[in-house]
Amino acid sequence: MASHRVNPPSSQLRGRVVVAAVAVGAFAAAAAGQTLKAGSTPSDDIAPLADSKTASAAIGIGGGTSAAAPEVLAVAKPAVAAPEVQQIASTNQIVQNRAAIAAAAKAEAERPKFVRPSSGTITSGFGARWGTTHYGLDFAAPIGTPIYAAADGVVIEAGPASGFGLWVRIEHEDGTITVYGHMQDFSVREGEHVKAGEQIARTGNRGQSTGPHLHFEVWEPGGKKINPRPWLIDHGVNL
Ligand SMILES: [Zn+2]
Repeated sequence: MASHRVNPPSSQLRGRVVVAAVAVGAFAAAAAGQTLKAGSTPSDDIAPLADSKTASAAIGIGGGTSAAAPEVLAVAKPAVAAPEVQQIASTNQIVQNRAAIAAAAKAEAERPKFVRPSSGTITSGFGARWGTTHYGLDFAAPIGTPIYAAADGVVIEAGPASGFGLWVRIEHEDGTITVYGHMQDFSVREGEHVKAGEQIARTGNRGQSTGPHLHFEVWEPGGKKINPRPWLIDHGVNL
């Protein structure tokens, strides 16, 4: 970057640019912090954030760390040579980009991370039923009612399954797997990343089912099937 500069800036100007770089770095760090809070799952929506060192390099700071008296960026004088003006303009662009990234990080941090997988009525819970064990929670709803991923995760299976007719299985960050059964059809494929609340399928009546409903299961990382109701409630979902 520095090689593009014909005339090194005066130490005074360099001081101003360094101040701008520090501001950009702090902003990037703040945005990065918000992103980390939102979870460590890589997101397709959020561009990787440069650290402050990279941000400084991006706006063409040379090796000089000698700081003149700090000044506010906005007071750049008309006498500043064109390359430096362009440099400051690109700094402003970076600040704007950081603001957009920070806004996206805020939206990411605030969106629900767990959702009710169906708007249907819960008609059957986890436990003994009809002389056997019912390992899920049933949400009765008309055929075609949307089914949503209960949390962020990766689709590990989507297709036919004995008893379920069709099922979708999603593995979440902590290794928990959610299972969705009896659907009419599904709209995700193996390996696909989904987010909480994203529609993955539509309610159906396939497999061993006595009426249109979503059969929803939660498996612990070791494969043990647990009661989905407290799992959802503990994650802030209203049932
Ligand atoms: Zn069921």
